[in-house]
This record gives sequence, structure tokens and C-alpha cells, in this order.
Amino acid sequence: MSEVRLRFPPSPTGYLHIGGARTAIFNWLFARKHGGKLILRIEDTDAERSTKESIEGIIDGLVWLGIDWDEGPYFQSEFASEHVAVARRLLEEGKAYRCFCTKEELDAKREAALKAKRDIKYDGTCRNLSKEEGDRLEASGRPNVIRFKVPERDGFIGYDDKVLGRIEKHYSEIEDFVIVRSNGRPLYLLCNVVDDIRDRITHVIRGQDHMTNTIRQLLLYEALDAPAPVFAHMPLTLDPKKRKISKRTHGEVVSVQFYREKGFLPWALVNFLVLLGWHTSDDREIFSKEELIEAFSLEGISKANSVFNFHPGDPKFFTDPKALSINAHYIRNIPIEELAGYVEKEFRAAGLWDDSYAGERRQWFLSTLDMIRTRFHTLKDFVGPGRAYFADDFPFDEKALRKNILKHDSLKELLPTLANELELLEEWTLESTEAAVRGFAERMGVKAGLIINGIRTAVTGQLKGAGIFDVMVAIGQERVVRRLKEVPSLYEAG
Ligand code: GLU
Repeated sequence: MSEVRLRFPPSPTGYLHIGGARTAIFNWLFARKHGGKLILRIEDTDAERSTKESIEGIIDGLVWLGIDWDEGPYFQSEFASEHVAVARRLLEEGKAYRCFCTKEELDAKREAALKAKRDIKYDGTCRNLSKEEGDRLEASGRPNVIRFKVPERDGFIGYDDKVLGRIEKHYSEIEDFVIVRSNGRPLYLLCNVVDDIRDRITHVIRGQDHMTNTIRQLLLYEALDAPAPVFAHMPLTLDPKKRKISKRTHGEVVSVQFYREKGFLPWALVNFLVLLGWHTSDDREIFSKEELIEAFSLEGISKANSVFNFHPGDPKFFTDPKALSINAHYIRNIPIEELAGYVEKEFRAAGLWDDSYAGERRQWFLSTLDMIRTRFHTLKDFVGPGRAYFADDFPFDEKALRKNILKHDSLKELLPTLANELELLEEWTLESTEAAVRGFAERMGVKAGLIINGIRTAVTGQLKGAGIFDVMVAIGQERVVRRLKEVPSLYEAG
């Protein structure tokens, strides 16, 4: 069998959005699974809308996600003369023709056809113009487009879509479509095929929104004597209101960059995006890279559109809850050194980094991350709810403050008194802190839970967390004592 070759051909007119990333991931997985090649081709023929920033953003996004490619980036615009030459060849071989119909004429015909409830496809007025007549019109300066001459056949053209099964269309239903505009520029439909032939693409995995192109592109492959690739059209991704996810409708909240900024691990995002439109028979959700490459198959791609359940207006659900739970899974489970690398970047950006975390306090840093990561959903949580372990200006969760401290007037005195005792401890260990706290509660005749919850919120700002004595040991004697002594000021502020 010849080499399996796939491509990811984004149009660089904006950032890399989750739909585009998902397409890239599917193509990449298929290439990797079959020992094939993935080609990155930037489809930048639309010079007005393509930007350098967008190209950089797309490449940056792919690199961040860990989607590597084997060839490219190639730039479609560099092959413009080849696209023109192919169009000319089709013209010379009589497989395409010049059409001199004006926009006004075409509009009038379309309107008349609509009124008469007739087919609105182009009626073929210029299809049989002689070469001489065409040359004469062109010489007189009449603008023209080039249309593909759809063969007159009684029957169907079709292909076996790897996701949707047999797709067919009757030849008579296909209009002689334009392949070169009146300004001489070939259309995307043609360029895309010419490039796929040159790049020897064997499989095309793309969104169902391209299906109307596919039938016409099959005609182009035939006319160019090239074998057509295998096609697999993926379902679309919809928002909760069942609208297609797009840059235009949803803005930056559907960009890969947004997820990066929100503290996603790249592989967690890949894992989540794959599940939007693909599944295994046992609906498994977590895959390592190797497992995913092994498990991936076109047969697992769903036929139905999938819903990306995000609520951009709600800060808690800025994304699909499943995306968050998958991210949380990876935060909990990746090797701690790997996590530390990600957290270091967050800390540096937030001004929380201390060089000792890479030096003499490395062990403390790693074990603290290991302790707090079990409750976190994104990397941002390490500088948010996790901040109290690393800095003194940490935020208080309002509910925690009310429930664990402000509701209990007695703690205003109890916690500073406890602080005075803790200050005298010569050892600061799980055992010594536990004995001190429990002994104190007993002597004061209050429940240990009241004191423990109060300590938790006073020293971490949070409602819940790891075992309190682990927390106290991690935060350290001096900080714990100081924070407990400051409890009265919380009542004043609250
Ligand atoms: N440039 C096209 C797009 O971004 C590629 C379509 C294709 O995969 O053929 O939608």
C-alpha cells in the first residue's frame, strides 16, 4: 500500500479555534496510527483576509497542543501559477469553458427560474461557444469567468464517505461551477484539489460543511486524471443553542489560545476535543497519546453533530464541564515534575515564583503541589485558590469565610489564643500540630471540627482542602501563627 498522507489546510483568517484544532487532531491521529505523514498547508490564497498573525497563531496553537506535522508549512499562494496553469489546461482540453454572462444576466435568469419554480443552476448559455467566438469576446474586453463543464451523463457521481456511507448526486443536478474568477484568480475549490494532488494526499478528513465541495471536487479529480482521496466528513460542533461553533458567532472563547490562558494542559484539551465527535465502543474518556493513536479509527467518528456545552457568560462554566473534569484528571495524574513545569510558568506570570522552588525548597514545592492538585481544575487554580501556600496576599472564599469563621464569634478569641500556643511548639509536624489543636479544643470545651474548619479558612482562605495537619505543615509554623493571630481583622472586614 502506498504511503498514507493527510493534510491540515487552515485558511489563516483568524486564530486557531477548537473546530479547526479538532480537524487537525483527527488528521494527525490517522496519520500517526498508519505510520503516514501529516502535511501542514496554509491556504492563504485569500490575500485580503489572510494575515501573518493568524499564520503564527495557528502554528503556535498546533505546537502548544503537541500536534506535530511532517511536511510544511506549505503556502498555497506559492503555487498560484500552477493553479492558473491547471485551469488553462482544463480549458484547452475542453473540460472547462469561458463564460461571458454578466452578473445582471445571471441574476435575471436566477430570478426567472425561481419564479417559474425551475432549477436555478446555471443554464449553460456559454457552454458551447466556439473557440473563435470566445476569443473574439475576450479580445473585445468582455470579462469572463471559467466554468467547469460537468459531463452530460445519465447517472450518479459519488463516493464512499468513511463516516456517512455512500454519498451520491445525479450529474444533471450539478451546475457548471466557476473555477476561475473574472479577475483571473482560481477558486479555492480548484486550488485545494491541485494542491492535494501535488501533495499526494490519500485521506481527507474535514467538516461536513465541506460536503457540497466534495462532489464537485470529485469531478475535478476525474478531469485531471488523478485518483480521488478517501473522504471522511466529520460532524459539526454546535453550541448549546445548536448553532455552529464559529469564530464569528462566538469570538475568542472558542479559540485554542483561550484555553491555554484559562490554564488547560494541552493534552487535556486534545483529549476533550477528540471526544467531540468520536468515541470508542465502550465510551472511554481518558487516553494517553499512545492509547489514543492506537484506539483512533474513522469508524468511531459520529454521524450526528456534537454539542459543545459551554456557557461563555458564566465564569464557572466558561467551558464544557467535561472539558474541566478531563483537565482536572490530568492535573491530578501527570508526573509531578511535569506539573511543576506548568505551574512554574503560571507562577512566573503571576509574580509568585521564587527561585528556591527550583533549589533548596524543591521537595517542599513538589509535595505541596501534589497535596493541593487533587481539588484543582485548571492551572490557574494554583495561583488562585492555591495562592495561600505561596504568598501572604491570598483570596478568601466568601462562603468559607462566613461559614467557618464569621458565623462563630468565639473563634475571634479562640484562634489567636491557639496561635500563641502553636508559636511555642518546638517541633512542627503532623503529630505535634494535631496534638496541639485537639488538646486545645478539649481544654476549651469546643468541638475540634469548629477549630479545624476555622484554621483551614484562616490559613488557606478555602472551604475545603487536604487534611488540615498536612496543610499546616505545608504552610509552615510562622505563617500559620501569623494568620491565626490576624483572625480578628477578618471580622472587622467582613
Ligand atoms: N482551507 C479550508 C478550510 O479552512 C480547508 C478545507 C479542506 O479541508 O479541504 O476550511
